[in-house]
Amino acid sequence: MTVLINRLAIIGVGLIGGSLVRALREAGAVKSVVGIGRSLPNLEDALSLGICDDITQDPAEGVRGADVVFISVPVCAIPGVVAEIVQFLTPGCIVTDGGSVKTAIVSECEPLMPSGCFFVGGHPIAGTEHTGAAASFATLYRGRRCILTPTERTNAAALELVSSMWKLTGADVCFMEPGHHDRIFAEISHLPHMAAYALVHAVGTADVEGENVLSYTAGGFRDFTRIASSDPAMWRDIALMNKNALLKSIDGFSTSMAELRRRIEAGDGAALSEFFTISKQFRDGII
Ligand code: NAP
Repeated sequence: MTVLINRLAIIGVGLIGGSLVRALREAGAVKSVVGIGRSLPNLEDALSLGICDDITQDPAEGVRGADVVFISVPVCAIPGVVAEIVQFLTPGCIVTDGGSVKTAIVSECEPLMPSGCFFVGGHPIAGTEHTGAAASFATLYRGRRCILTPTERTNAAALELVSSMWKLTGADVCFMEPGHHDRIFAEISHLPHMAAYALVHAVGTADVEGENVLSYTAGGFRDFTRIASSDPAMWRDIALMNKNALLKSIDGFSTSMAELRRRIEAGDGAALSEFFTISKQFRDGII
């Protein structure tokens, strides 16, 4: 395999950044990797697990000489991280990210790039509820989509390299306008996380004659609410950064819940069956 990236800098060596490196190493696509982060224990994990060759807590030092910088910190922190590193980038450097929200990140980061350096927005559609370098694994992206969100300012060669990088992880790369991405993922990812957090909150605080209701949970509740164990800081950032699209999705969900409530209150079995049948058909149709 020909080396695609000589020096890769990862800012935020967690599940997403660590898994990218592991996959690229397996593909023989990267020569050396520097991990950049805030906490030393996580960086030391990344070093001892063989994810990174070098580690540093100093972003300026870390990005020096890198031909690609991948940023995988919580979304609200991404523009600040880019602002902090731009003056230390090597000419020709490509900066890209894995953040789950794209409009705000792309519109804030693109104008920060110095002449001769390029920004490409990205979002791999893969993850787990676990965090940190130790949670990363090489097959995370295999057979999963990775969405790149180019704009009219995006450099074609930079886009091509980032696309090749993701293909080498086993991901299927597709392209989307940032706003379109944010509306789709508000529905399909951000709303379900909000619903899971809200459901667990409601049940966890429910008062049924002083019983700990959660001690009775079984398979269905656990399956449905697994994603409520996701990192609160990550989801706080996503909710804040994709606010407008997410509020619309929450409104749509509230309308559905109100309709369901109305049919239950009316004791209308036929209407309830119709509601559940339509939902089941949508669910069964997911491949
Ligand atoms: P993670 O495992 O917690 O890793 C995040 C990393 O960012 C950690 O190494 C953390 O290390 C660092 N970090 C945290 N807060 C920071 C801050 N304010 N400034 C600078 N660094 C910070 O999380 P992840 O799951 O890899 O998520 C990273 C990004 O990928 C997020 O933007 C998320 O939206 C996106 N994403 C996640 C998933 C998913 O399912 N998990 C899927 C697709 C995309 P230190 O605390 O040591 O700095």
